[in-house]
Amino acid sequence: MTTPDAPSDWLVRSRAALDRARLAPEALAVGRVERIADGIAQVSGLPDAAMGALLRFEGGELGFAHSLGPEEIDVVICDDGSRIGAGQRVTDTGGVLEVPVGDALLGRVVDPLGRPLDGGDDPETDMRLPVERPAPAIIDRAEVTEPLETGVLVVDSLFSLGRGQRELIVGDRATGKTSLAVDAIVNQKDSDVICVYVAVGQPAAAVQRVIEAVRSHGAPERCIFVVGGASASPGLQWIAPFAGMTMAEHFRDAGQHALIVIDDLTRHAATHRELALLTHEPPGREAYPGDIFYLHARLLERAAKLAPERGGGSLTALPIAETDAGSLSAYIPTNLISITDGQIVLDTALFAANHRPAVDVGLSVSRVGGKAQWPALRQVSGRVRLDYAQFQELEMFSRFGGVTNDRVRQQLDRGRRIRSLLTQPKFAGLGMEVQVALLAAHADGALDGMPPERMATLRARLPGWLRSHAASAMDSIRDTRRLDAQTRAALSEAVVALVRDMDGKGGAS
Ligand code: ATP
Ligand code: MG
Repeated sequence: MTTPDAPSDWLVRSRAALDRARLAPEALAVGRVERIADGIAQVSGLPDAAMGALLRFEGGELGFAHSLGPEEIDVVICDDGSRIGAGQRVTDTGGVLEVPVGDALLGRVVDPLGRPLDGGDDPETDMRLPVERPAPAIIDRAEVTEPLETGVLVVDSLFSLGRGQRELIVGDRATGKTSLAVDAIVNQKDSDVICVYVAVGQPAAAVQRVIEAVRSHGAPERCIFVVGGASASPGLQWIAPFAGMTMAEHFRDAGQHALIVIDDLTRHAATHRELALLTHEPPGREAYPGDIFYLHARLLERAAKLAPERGGGSLTALPIAETDAGSLSAYIPTNLISITDGQIVLDTALFAANHRPAVDVGLSVSRVGGKAQWPALRQVSGRVRLDYAQFQELEMFSRFGGVTNDRVRQQLDRGRRIRSLLTQPKFAGLGMEVQVALLAAHADGALDGMPPERMATLRARLPGWLRSHAASAMDSIRDTRRLDAQTRAALSEAVVALVRDMDGKGGAS
């Protein structure tokens, strides 16, 4: 029973709530929907709305100001716009587009506004950050010196990536672009890198495949999946890369290391063009609006390695772009190539010939990763790229006639062996020290004479074999990242022993 001097809990809580309430007048600008079509609403009565301002429609749908006119503004609707009609009220929330950030997002599948898509509850975070944020200043950055291990031999040895680098993965349809990026994510299973996978305009089945792959082979509890799929509104697809970047940056700024994959920016560019044409922005080359370069430059500039005073965190970006008939000189691929610190080019012909990952060694480049590469790996991969590039030319010529020259035949043999060395199935990442052992054995001639088709068996058995037969050499490489003569000899010996072991088994069976 309640007495005047013992107020009930309910009363106490209500008083406290009243004390906390802000009673100052609050002015909210309210406009009116004039027209709506194709996910864009023209709104009048909001002359002071800022670019990117977050607006709320009567039914609770969210949108953002995309282009501003003197009388009307164009609002891109992020949600299902079917219940929005002319005459409805639109409120300027006074804020900009924000997403939740923090550990609660790890392991989750969310839409570009941070709302769950995996059937779970809203991610419980007390922090939200704008999707558009400035890139770190030059003074706050440090040089890229730590490697980001992808586990993919051809990438780590020839085009090694550094933490804080931006590397474009570019290729035609179905050349293994997504698979390469997913391999890099999966390989972070035992590392300290947090991964963010952003899907832009991808079919739901493709996104599902990526999520399943990471769940069964990687560490999904340290990944965030941001999905603006093919069926999402153009507004959501447009936001997706920026939202993913904000979520990843949060870890970078806390001194941690993050990796963001954006799959893919060609579709993002198409969405940007769609929105621009619908809002009557003047079209430029290939009908893209003039600010498309700036759009992607300001997005990718946010990937960075921070200076020690800023916590020393890093954010590595692997944006993906699709080409048409291998044309790297199309507008969007060239833009992205000039924005990023290098590109991994995937080739249809190599892919069709089952040389996967189908990396075109001649056209790919990593402009900063070399500095971050382990000296041991650099030491043993020195000649591989040159040998391989020469082989590819030679192979083409040798098709036209029989090769009689012994030297040429040797070179072809060597090239074929390199190719079988660089061919790698999905989800079979190799540790850096195993890569060093493999390439050292190749350089020292320990693999000479081995038929290329046995390479797959060798590669599969090598990690376990080295762990039991050359453990101290492995430890020494991982600790020092260098390769001295003694360690190298021990490695080659172990690999030769494995080849002999395989021969023995091959002969017995
Ligand atoms: P899209 O243009 O449709 O996005 P994509 O370039 O992203 O395609 P993926 O979807 O990654 O290509 O790969 C296409 C197919 O090739 C998939 O079936 C995948 O399993 C296979 N594939 C990719 N990489 C490898 C590999 N290293 N070994 C074997 N198969 C592979
Ligand atoms: Mg793909």
